[in-house]
Amino acid sequence: AKDQGRNTYRLFTREMNQKVMQRVSMEASLRQALEKGEFRVYYQPQVDLNTGSMVGAEALLRWEHPGKGLLGPDEFIPLAESSGLIVPIGEWVLAQACSQARSWHDQGFRGLLVSVNLSPRQFQQPNLVSQIRSILTQTGLDPSCLELEVTESVVMQNVEDAILTMSRLCKLGVRLSLDDFGRGYSSLYYLKRFPMHTLKIDRSFVRDITLDQAGAAIVNTIIDMSGNLSLKVVAEGVETKEQLQFLKINRCDQMQGFLFCRPIPQKDLTTLMTEGKKL
Ligand code: C2E
Ligand code: CA
Ligand code: CA
Ligand code: CA
Repeated sequence: AKDQGRNTYRLFTREMNQKVMQRVSMEASLRQALEKGEFRVYYQPQVDLNTGSMVGAEALLRWEHPGKGLLGPDEFIPLAESSGLIVPIGEWVLAQACSQARSWHDQGFRGLLVSVNLSPRQFQQPNLVSQIRSILTQTGLDPSCLELEVTESVVMQNVEDAILTMSRLCKLGVRLSLDDFGRGYSSLYYLKRFPMHTLKIDRSFVRDITLDQAGAAIVNTIIDMSGNLSLKVVAEGVETKEQLQFLKINRCDQMQGFLFCRPIPQKDLTTLMTEGKKL
């Protein structure tokens, strides 16, 4: 029994070592990926439910890994976040998305809004505001065409500091969006105090619209509440015509989801807009 225990222990440490090594090498390649230019920004259209037209796009990070192919953010953002690499990576995404938006405006797609996700670590960077200011200056993007998406967990970590940062961002003229609404521990009290422009209904609620009456009631309530708070409301993860119908009837402002389009490379989005694709 003693021997067995020892073996288990050895196995365990070997496995741990492997995990640690994997992590170290993944971190190293993540670090290099930025220098080698292996990251891509994909864009998912956001559609106005009244007109059916594309009015914005969310920037979504991808990693074109030389060995593993195209990786989604869930496969590397956690490590980027814990190692702090998310800060330079996030700055790159911001610069990329802002310069792309500016270029779309120059091509005649005026007023198109681009949304960029901010991670907790990024949001807590003391120089976040000045960083964004200089990106806006460098790209010449109209600040009101940039929307920053933060999740409830980001802003609820340290509410007073978060409100201060959000107010400073608002003064730059950018828009703020509360991402994944309803998934975290949102407080309606704070929602009132946050200088927000947009609320994004989490995909899990959208999925339940057609599940039962409660699912539908929750989404309807979030839409009505957004209206009462003068927030633009966007439904995420819309996959079916039934969900779309419900959102239209209940006067949700915008939708985003596979039903209209998956996240796509920048040139494919340009094509869609040129063709004038509608919902
Ligand atoms: P998110 O901000 O909630 O982004 C929406 C996610 O939902 C995207 O996943 C998108 O592809 C997916 N999605 C959109 N429509 C549908 C649909 O109809 N059905 C389903 N099942 N999924 C849909 P993605 O691109 O894998 O991104 C995952 C998460 O990674 C994002 O969630 C965001 O939190 C994070 N992320 C992505 N890009 C960045 C970035 O540049 N910086 C940071 N900090 N986080 C990012
Ligand atoms: Ca988002
Ligand atoms: Ca979301
Ligand atoms: Ca309603």
